[in-house]
Amino acid sequence: MILDAKIPEGPLAEKWDKHKFNVKLVNPANKRKYDVIVVGTGLAGASAAASLAELGYNVKAFSFHDSPRRAHSIAAQGGINAAKNYQNDGDSVHRLFYDTIKGGDYRAREANVYRLAQVSVNIIDQCVAQGVPFAREYGGLLANRSFGGAQVSRTFYARGQTGQQLLLGAYSALSRQIAYGKVKMYTRTEMLDLVIIDGQARGIITRNLITGEIQRHLAHAVVLATGGYGNVFYLSTNAKYSNATAAWRAHKKGALFANPCFTQIHPTCIPVSGDYQSKLTLMSESLRNDGRVWVPKTVEMAERLRRGEIHVNQIAEEDRDYFLERKYPSFGNLVPRDVASRNAKMMCDEGRGVGSSGLAVYLDFADVIKRIGADQVSQKYGNLFAMYEKITDEDPYKQPMRIYPAVHYTMGGLWVDYNLMTNVPGLYATGECNFSDHGANRLGASALMQGLADGYFVIPYTIGDYLAQTPAKLMDSNKQPITLDHPAFVEAENQVRGRIQKLLSINGTRTPDDFHKALGHLMWEYCGMARNAEGLQHAKKEIQKLRREFWQDLKVTGTNEDLNQTLEKAGRVADFLELGELMVDDAYNRNESCGGHFREEYQDEMGEADRNDDEYAYVAAWEWRGENQPETLHKEELKFENVKLTKRSYK
Ligand SMILES: Cc1cc2nc3c(=O)[nH]c(=O)nc-3n(C[C@H](O)[C@H](O)[C@H](O)COP(=O)(O)OP(=O)(O)OC[C@H]3O[C@@H](n4cnc5c(N)ncnc54)[C@H](O)[C@@H]3O)c2cc1C
Repeated sequence: MILDAKIPEGPLAEKWDKHKFNVKLVNPANKRKYDVIVVGTGLAGASAAASLAELGYNVKAFSFHDSPRRAHSIAAQGGINAAKNYQNDGDSVHRLFYDTIKGGDYRAREANVYRLAQVSVNIIDQCVAQGVPFAREYGGLLANRSFGGAQVSRTFYARGQTGQQLLLGAYSALSRQIAYGKVKMYTRTEMLDLVIIDGQARGIITRNLITGEIQRHLAHAVVLATGGYGNVFYLSTNAKYSNATAAWRAHKKGALFANPCFTQIHPTCIPVSGDYQSKLTLMSESLRNDGRVWVPKTVEMAERLRRGEIHVNQIAEEDRDYFLERKYPSFGNLVPRDVASRNAKMMCDEGRGVGSSGLAVYLDFADVIKRIGADQVSQKYGNLFAMYEKITDEDPYKQPMRIYPAVHYTMGGLWVDYNLMTNVPGLYATGECNFSDHGANRLGASALMQGLADGYFVIPYTIGDYLAQTPAKLMDSNKQPITLDHPAFVEAENQVRGRIQKLLSINGTRTPDDFHKALGHLMWEYCGMARNAEGLQHAKKEIQKLRREFWQDLKVTGTNEDLNQTLEKAGRVADFLELGELMVDDAYNRNESCGGHFREEYQDEMGEADRNDDEYAYVAAWEWRGENQPETLHKEELKFENVKLTKRSYK
């Protein structure tokens, strides 16, 4: 298979404009003859569904939530990047492009990233027009703050609730189209399979989560906007409901899965507190604008802290090691997430971690409170401080927060070309569910940017190119009209039913959560913040064993014909058990360290990631070959014509 990313010819800055001119258009009067399925109504899906309906297409939108407003996007705290240069501090489209390519450790496509930087400016205008209440300066201009991996302030925000406000904007746009009848919204409905006819995506199979009803849905194209798969680790900052099922089932129908091992570990999360925890909480990266990260200078001092013999506020200034400021003077506490996370781990591995487990470092606001006062700090971060206090019972205005890295985001996902189409014609992937723009490490505040860029400004153009070449009246290769009774729909539905029956009939002793937790433990230990060949091989065997046990000893209570969250979970855990193995294979294959993928064998004398551009400057796109078969690796070579590949340095 040859992977053609369909990157337009010409100078980087002109590619997107030229491409928009060159793609085929669907006549406005013909758009109403085309149906598009959009699965997922988080930021990526809601923006796509609303925009496509606004153009005139008939959209069917699906979400397993009871409202689009419940998508995981609502949890996004810190902000959204855009190259507006409102601060007059040297920002530009080119700088955002450069920061993103470098931040991703040179494992992303130049053309996609440049386009992302270009359309970033439109996103802010679109959202403001929708009424998104971005923070403003005294004079009324939109305010900005800084995020990791950048030396300019380009992050737009709405206190610590940016995702919520953006989603309400996208939801309003979507609701308008629902009211016009151009979007038919299916809530509490889960996509369980993709239907492919003559090699083209033509529909999906869904299950109504309230009644268990299985349904077939037909369309001219299918867009997946189903979010990331960080919950494969069981403990993560993702919403508990987030999962990989839609993307994984599409993968099993032929869509390639790219860079599955590229996982982002976020440095500032509330540390794990016990064995029975099911979720981790993020403390937004925006806090690193003002918070200073430190640990005690000596192991002895850290031990005394851990034993509770001294209080953190008793540690004198000269006994504190502000290790990020010390090691990375130019970026300080705002180094990218992968760098900050690894350094926090290093401190804890040295025995200088704090908290009862020793797996935490401090994020301290004493200086900023002294400088601008607690009131102003509260205006910037009040909701985050309140959340921290509620969870830990410690007041961050009075003592530093304790933070530790946790799984947060997945850069890997379905492989897509420049048009955001997967290798399956007619199947698109947008937002966190594709692999496209962040390379091996996503910069903070860039996921919201990408999801909305995809939905508002990319897919509305690129999908037209495909639809313009697709007859409105769909026929199969036997010249038969494609209807819901087509054998491919029947077969896909039977597969879905068979799988549900299988899950219900095992009648073993262990819950889906029990298996999920065991998988998460393996993934974190062996394919988490640091990986090595031996550990990855061990994990592969253990995951295979766990999967066998799952299919022999799973217990799913209840029936299919009812609300059954155990059944829902079982299906998702089954997919995680396959995806987990692919992540391990991908990490094992990539004999280098880059971004969030840190192979212990490949590091320099300072403990920094050691990339191998000669052999690994490619996207690893994996092809499903059947149950228990090794997947086939396809490589998309990455060409860098506009940036020079250098060793990343934030010093
Ligand atoms: C705590 C937290 C804070 C964050 N803060 C920021 C930030 O400040 N800035 C930033 O840029 N990024 C941030 N991120 C990342 C960002 O929030 C996500 O990457 C982004 O919101 C993902 O949007 P999405 O639309 O792709 O997916 P989601 O918002 O996850 O939406 C997925 C949608 O798909 C639906 N779905 C999934 N599977 C199925 C299925 N099988 N059938 C039917 N429906 C399905 C769901 O119902 C949902 O509607 C944060 C992430 C976390 C965890």
